[in-house]
Amino acid sequence: MDEVRNLIIIGSGPSGYTAAVYAARANLKPLVIEGVQSGGALMTTTEVENFPGFPDGVMGPELMDSMRKQAERFGAEFITDDVTRVELTGTTVTEPGAEGLKTVWVGDTSYFARAVILSTGSAWRRLGVPGEEEFLGHGVSSCATCDGFFFRNHHIVVVGGGDSAMEEATFLTRFAETVTIVHRRDSFRASKIMAQRAMDNPKIKVEWNSAVEEILGADGKVSGVRLRNTVSGETKTLDVTGVFVAIGHIPRSDLFKDQVAMNEEGYVTVDSPSTRTNVPGVFAAGDLVDHTYRQAITAAGTGCAAALDAERFIASFE
Ligand code: FAD
Repeated sequence: MDEVRNLIIIGSGPSGYTAAVYAARANLKPLVIEGVQSGGALMTTTEVENFPGFPDGVMGPELMDSMRKQAERFGAEFITDDVTRVELTGTTVTEPGAEGLKTVWVGDTSYFARAVILSTGSAWRRLGVPGEEEFLGHGVSSCATCDGFFFRNHHIVVVGGGDSAMEEATFLTRFAETVTIVHRRDSFRASKIMAQRAMDNPKIKVEWNSAVEEILGADGKVSGVRLRNTVSGETKTLDVTGVFVAIGHIPRSDLFKDQVAMNEEGYVTVDSPSTRTNVPGVFAAGDLVDHTYRQAITAAGTGCAAALDAERFIASFE
């Protein structure tokens, strides 16, 4: 049988790399299967101003590269590819003494470990309109907490009608001159209290029955959005310099379906405040679990916790 590892970490965002730093420093020699798009969500952004320790901010890719180097320095190994299948209950490995081992496949190659940390993050739901990808990080954002500060005195829109759209819109009024909520229906899906708080805010307006058809801009900057009325079909343009997309997130948990417990939205559930899933030896961290905070530092925090939980679990074999 191939080498049995102590720990495999799936994912390479702030949670995966932080878990790798801690596990490597604990001499566990973790194997990090990073994904084809290594480095996670911050690879798609420019300046990160709220990660502690960087008074002048740090570029997202630079921060992730530093985390990776830090883990490498202590002995973490990396495979820059996607995990294609997992067997987390350990039932596929039947050699004597190997019960409970987890198997992780990258294509046809299998890797065995005593413990696994799941840290594949979540993806934000895209509008799928022209201009969205082009201006991502240059006026288009999915995170008010992350980027609100860059929109002081701007006119901006928030797209969505749920609780997070209301929360983001209300939060953004601290910075923006005006915030227009664009919603495709004639009433919000958000809870009454959140919707009322947004509606009572003098800086917030609503474009009801409206869908964003295109995000407009030039020279790497957003200059407006073209809206289509979902009832009349009429179009109009709003002159705005920021677009916050708040129509939900999708946890990247398909791979783990029917193997670990999840909530109805597909977020992996853990025995909080630990990172233990319902399967012994399987831990989960970052945005794959967290649908509330979704920050690099909180993902890093739970990544640290997952490594410590895994370390204790592995120690129980010794
Ligand atoms: P992610 O960073 O999403 O990483 C998940 C990893 O899993 C990726 O490496 C991916 O390749 C890997 N993966 C997925 N599937 C597989 C597979 N099958 N096999 C192997 N690997 C896989 N937060 C802040 O605190 N400050 C900011 O300024 C900020 N700005 C942001 C800007 C943007 C544009 C975005 C999208 C997010 C921003 N965030 C910011 C949020 C922050 O990036 C996330 O909260 C954080 O990255 C979550 O970390 P994570 O480790 O849980 O997941």
